[in-house]
Amino acid sequence: QEADARVLKIPRYVRVNTKFWTTSEAIKYFAEKGFSIGNPLESSAALAQDEHIPDLLVFPPQTSFQDDHAYGAGKIILQDKASCFPAFVLSPPAHETTVAIDATAAPGNKTSHLSALMKGKGKLYAFERDRKRFGTLKMMLQKAGCDNVEPVNVDFLTVNPSDPKYEPVTHILLDPSCSGSGIVNRLDHLLSTENDDEGGDEARLHKLAAFQLKMVKHAMQFPSVRKIVYSTCSVHAIENEHVVSSALESEEAAAAGFVLAPREEVLSSWQRRGYQDDMKIGNASAAIRCLPGEDATNGFFVTCFVRMSAGKKRMQ
Ligand code: SAM
Repeated sequence: QEADARVLKIPRYVRVNTKFWTTSEAIKYFAEKGFSIGNPLESSAALAQDEHIPDLLVFPPQTSFQDDHAYGAGKIILQDKASCFPAFVLSPPAHETTVAIDATAAPGNKTSHLSALMKGKGKLYAFERDRKRFGTLKMMLQKAGCDNVEPVNVDFLTVNPSDPKYEPVTHILLDPSCSGSGIVNRLDHLLSTENDDEGGDEARLHKLAAFQLKMVKHAMQFPSVRKIVYSTCSVHAIENEHVVSSALESEEAAAAGFVLAPREEVLSSWQRRGYQDDMKIGNASAAIRCLPGEDATNGFFVTCFVRMSAGKKRMQ
């Protein structure tokens, strides 16, 4: 019941796949279908452009796109606003020499977002451990026209950071399995969340957190990586601030010189930030939090580790 009330406050978000068309073209397309610019929470025929994420359109909560031609053609991606933050914060440069990794990719919403931000240039490795989900990922990438992506059915933890193939990797997106406790609107998460929150059982959360920390520490070992975005669709500090603090304290972070990117580099205009009481070290304002319903999104957490450049000290 409480979840239902929150769902009604979450608009339908539609990310325009800029591989195929522009946001202006998409707005014109939807105008021809009877939508006009307005407040989607007040009118069932209104659409808006999102204020934080470029190329994200906002529609009334109950709008269905399953039969829409643009959806079938991969021209729009149904993706909650908060789940657009990680790729946007990472923003690998749209350059032929950029090499990036999406470490936990299926079903591929964030992979296709990264590919669009890279304007199809450079190279993006998309790792997925689960065979069935890997199939979904491949289909999604094909539908979305992600030409610069190489999907690989592998466990990220078994990928050797010293492999010459991955030597040039500078950007890593890490959106690992989590409790999924932030997801109240399952419309676009039917495929993306493998775990249902089973009441936030502490032992289970600690197990997930240990895995998430292992993944961050592994990402930190890639020799040229400069930026790692860590995100979850969990509202539990154990999987969020606690993991980030432990990662900052780790030998891997010390060896490679990783610190938190400051708030200015992590969607600073977003007001709700990490919980300082749950961060043993590090500045919680460097992290983004979204609360289900209250922020017109699902629950989410995003933060970004950056490698300190020689001679330049960043604030933790
Ligand atoms: N980023 C995806 C998106 O936005 O569409 C959602 C990712 S989902 C939260 C986590 C995914 O990571 C699952 O598909 C899971 O099978 C995969 N995964 C979990 N552990 C992994 C590992 N060690 N290596 C590669 N993939 C892994």
